Amino acid sequence: MSVLVYLEHADGAVDEPSLQAATLARSLAGDHAPQALVASDTVPLGLGGPLPVATVHVAAHEAFGSYAPRAVAEAIVELAERQEATAVVGPGTERGNEVLAHVAAILDLPLAANCIAASTTDDGAEVTRVRWGGSLLEHARIHAPRTLLTVQPHAIPADTDAPAPPAIESFTPSLSAAALARRVVERVGAATGGISLADAKVVVSGGRGAGSAEGFAPVEELAALLGAAVGCSRAVTMAGWRPHTDQVGQTGTKIAPDLYIACGISGATQHMAGCKGAKRILAINSDRDAPILASADYAVIGDMHEILPAISAAIRAAS
Ligand SMILES: Cc1cc2nc3c(=O)[nH]c(=O)nc-3n(C[C@H](O)[C@H](O)[C@H](O)COP(=O)(O)OP(=O)(O)OC[C@H]3O[C@@H](n4cnc5c(N)ncnc54)[C@H](O)[C@@H]3O)c2cc1C
Repeated sequence: MSVLVYLEHADGAVDEPSLQAATLARSLAGDHAPQALVASDTVPLGLGGPLPVATVHVAAHEAFGSYAPRAVAEAIVELAERQEATAVVGPGTERGNEVLAHVAAILDLPLAANCIAASTTDDGAEVTRVRWGGSLLEHARIHAPRTLLTVQPHAIPADTDAPAPPAIESFTPSLSAAALARRVVERVGAATGGISLADAKVVVSGGRGAGSAEGFAPVEELAALLGAAVGCSRAVTMAGWRPHTDQVGQTGTKIAPDLYIACGISGATQHMAGCKGAKRILAINSDRDAPILASADYAVIGDMHEILPAISAAIRAAS
């Protein structure tokens, strides 16, 4: 099977969800290592070492200096047709899903998003994919001449044992004017102090228990001391206390930190769907019967406005 995988990259390295997508693409490809595509305005570019793919095709265009989802999709379609790829795989990040959705629209084919396993069949593929925020695993069959899927982030381990770096080839894609018109023209710094919520090793989150936007001051203070990202629940974004980019959950960001500190958060199913990838959860809650305690590894029962400053003071005293 000829498989093409789309890789996202930042700061000269392929990101973790893309490595996971490449790993699933490798298992789908059988005897033939997959081909990969990155979109970049810089050629050559570093990709951070060995990858489980044969060749990385760099779609080179100045438009790829910023995020241009339709243009990336057109580059993927062009290469997929040239390679006669029978499957196209991408990372199931917000951007990866958006780019692959454009690919599906251009080719008028179905897209299976957030897969954790896939195998080929006579007329397409069989996939297992995550639905309803992780509360359901769906087994589905895709009947299509070209299988399109994205891989659920942090659900399968990335294969980092590839024997050698792949070959790098570049090409200039033909991009339509309409695709080039849709791109990010300005970036505004995130409120997380530059630490990405999706990739942070430690996340400190506040919920309705924070009480107000100002109530996030002790959350931010502890996050700064720990080098952590700040997250929140949907009750908080709905109240306008924090931007949606901080929201953890089914309709927010899916996180997989080593430690998740959830302060004043009840632990609704839709919130837990976003943080169940955390290795350890510390819940700080005034209610000892709060549902989050059923998922927490550690708990402190009490007022977050007293407990968080006490933790921060102890960290300062110890350093
Ligand atoms: C379709 C859909 C999608 C959704 N997507 C998401 C999502 O992506 N993310 C998400 O978070 N939610 C999501 N929700 C909403 C979700 O169902 C909950 O309503 C929400 O998570 C509750 O937020 P919360 O825990 O901050 O608030 P609450 O449920 O009100 O809990 C507040 C908690 O704070 C504790 N508390 C209060 N005061 C203090 C204090 N001083 N110190 C310590 N603890 C205190 C309370 O004991 C309580 O446990 C979604 C809902 C729907 C229907």
